[in-house]
Amino acid sequence: MFNPDEFLSHIVDLEDCCPNIDEMFAPLVENGLDFLERSTVEFEEFPKYSVIHFAAAVELFLKARLIAKDWKLIVITKSEEEIVNRHSFELGDFQSVNLGGAFKNLAKNGWKVSKKEEAVFMKIGNHRNKMIHFFHRAHTAEESTALLTEIAREQLKAWYLLHRLLTDKWLNEFRDFVERFNNVDELFRKHKKFLEVVFEQKKPEIQELKTGGNYFFEKCPSCGFESFRHESEPQLHYAVDCMVCKFSEKHLRINCPKCDEIVDFVNEGFARCDCGKNFEPDDLVDILTEHNPAYYGKEAEDLGNCSECDGFHTVIQLDDQEKYICTSCFGEFNSLQSCGWCNEPNTGDMEFSYISGCNHCEGQAGWEADD
Ligand SMILES: [Zn+2]
Ligand SMILES: [Zn+2]
Ligand SMILES: [Zn+2]
Ligand SMILES: [Zn+2]
Repeated sequence: MFNPDEFLSHIVDLEDCCPNIDEMFAPLVENGLDFLERSTVEFEEFPKYSVIHFAAAVELFLKARLIAKDWKLIVITKSEEEIVNRHSFELGDFQSVNLGGAFKNLAKNGWKVSKKEEAVFMKIGNHRNKMIHFFHRAHTAEESTALLTEIAREQLKAWYLLHRLLTDKWLNEFRDFVERFNNVDELFRKHKKFLEVVFEQKKPEIQELKTGGNYFFEKCPSCGFESFRHESEPQLHYAVDCMVCKFSEKHLRINCPKCDEIVDFVNEGFARCDCGKNFEPDDLVDILTEHNPAYYGKEAEDLGNCSECDGFHTVIQLDDQEKYICTSCFGEFNSLQSCGWCNEPNTGDMEFSYISGCNHCEGQAGWEADD
């Protein structure tokens, strides 16, 4: 029987968002997977195509994340008036955002990828362009090997970061594809075999460092070799890097205030202790400023704001070092500048901040516009 309420709610649904967003999302992901699989198959014999297809895959997955919310997020309109309608979108009759545009739209919607992820994915895109325009030259066997090693390193790094986004932070959107992603992960073993030569070369040096006692080695999350170098007695904030694929992570280590066990933060200020206590950047600020002479008698306004991750009062000075870190994105800074308008310390360039403000205030211009 006709139910007017049901009918009306259906119309509202249609206007609110795309009713068949899955019809656009799934093929895009399938396409990305296809390019990704190809890039592993082509890797040794046709590295040029592997680079091109890998880059296409990265772009497609980032766009799929945007489309999962709204197809308009991957469309560029040249002017305010121009409106791309759903019909021309489906025909492919539109200009789509590039990698930089995709990062911007991800950030605008709160799905910001880290600086590190952005840099690694950008490099993949830049190398694709290089390959398309300049890769004509015949290579000697030696040059080819060096090139393949470099590509293997780059793709493994990017795939590790992408795989993590797709199966962790963005799991809700990509849940149906997790098994396929894990299959692709298997295909990347081929790349790892390629880095075996590098591992063999580095073995004596790794052995020597182990014997020296200043370092210990773990399995690298990106290339899988026992070449991920940790300092045995690290400072509070330290880098861990792989001697084979050059993958690196920033770590920060504290003792849990509840159970006193060590909690290791990796690349960001979110972690969970085995005792169940959860930590966020604000907790890190509290812990790291509590007995820190740099913060005696100071107020919250003396904490810095981060222009890289937009963190508010997340930047602190480490007491033993002349350096600042952001407890949210783990960015490191040598100095902070005060915003000319709101006066708060900031990691960004504050030269014109009196007029234009910082990432947490609108400056004089914004204040006057409000009037
Ligand atoms: Zn590695
Ligand atoms: Zn604990
Ligand atoms: Zn930050
Ligand atoms: Zn400001």
